Amino acid sequence: MTGTPRLSGKVSLVTGAAQGIGRSITDAFLAEGGRVIATDRNVAPLAGLAGHPQLEICELDVTRPDDIAAAAARHADVEVLVNCAGYVPAGPLLQCEDADFERTLSLNVTAMFRMMKAFLPAMAERRCGSIINIASVVSSVMAAPDRFAYGASKAAVIAMSMSVARDYAGSGVRCNAISPGTVETPSLHERMAATGDAVKARDMFVARQLLGRLGRPEEVAAVAVLLASDEATFITGSNLVIDGGMSL
Ligand code: NAD
Repeated sequence: MTGTPRLSGKVSLVTGAAQGIGRSITDAFLAEGGRVIATDRNVAPLAGLAGHPQLEICELDVTRPDDIAAAAARHADVEVLVNCAGYVPAGPLLQCEDADFERTLSLNVTAMFRMMKAFLPAMAERRCGSIINIASVVSSVMAAPDRFAYGASKAAVIAMSMSVARDYAGSGVRCNAISPGTVETPSLHERMAATGDAVKARDMFVARQLLGRLGRPEEVAAVAVLLASDEATFITGSNLVIDGGMSL
């Protein structure tokens, strides 16, 4: 961190905070002086951060509506909500079973809808809030092979973000989406391994990036810091693409 911490005095809640992009956002927000409620359905990987004076670790499975309601009631002071928990199913239309499609929408879309609905009223009451939804460049921005259900779900994330930005701008709540390209995270490594040839899969993913490499979670976190901070008070309804030129 250089200069004045950009998030001091701000309380943020991050879902899917235990690893990957959510973990990098948690680390970056703490480094910028923010207070962070780091949530995940599996909080074990966060154990190394326990004891940080600005951090609260909470187990939260975002597919459980009662748990979302309880979290919102317990943390009415949240000013920045980062909806990061998500999942990347593979496969084209004809290999997508009803259950696959429903599971994808349940985590990537319905859970995010419920999180926003639960946390936005307290933000609007204080006339101060920033909602940051992690979408993907594989959405309404572009298609990628074998990402039928995923692309549909992330297009919905972008549309929900724009709609919330439109309807609550007058309440002091900003809402933006971030659309990463391919980013080095544990789940990406699992997807590469699942192809049966992780080296070939990596080469294929890298070949899609005009910048010639995969993204780093810290690069996504830097944009989340901007959107959470007072430097972004005129940014709402945006979909910030961070994809190394993948969608050009
Ligand atoms: P990841 O799988 O490495 O980490 C996801 C985290 O979410 C895990 O800690 C997991 O325990 C948690 N999680 C999963 N289901 C949950 C639930 N029901 N409730 C609460 N927590 C849950 O993922 P990642 O690659 O860091 O991706 C994070 C987000 O970024 C996702 O929304 C993903 O779609 C999006 N994204 C990732 C990439 C990429 O290349 N990695 C690209 C574009 C968008």
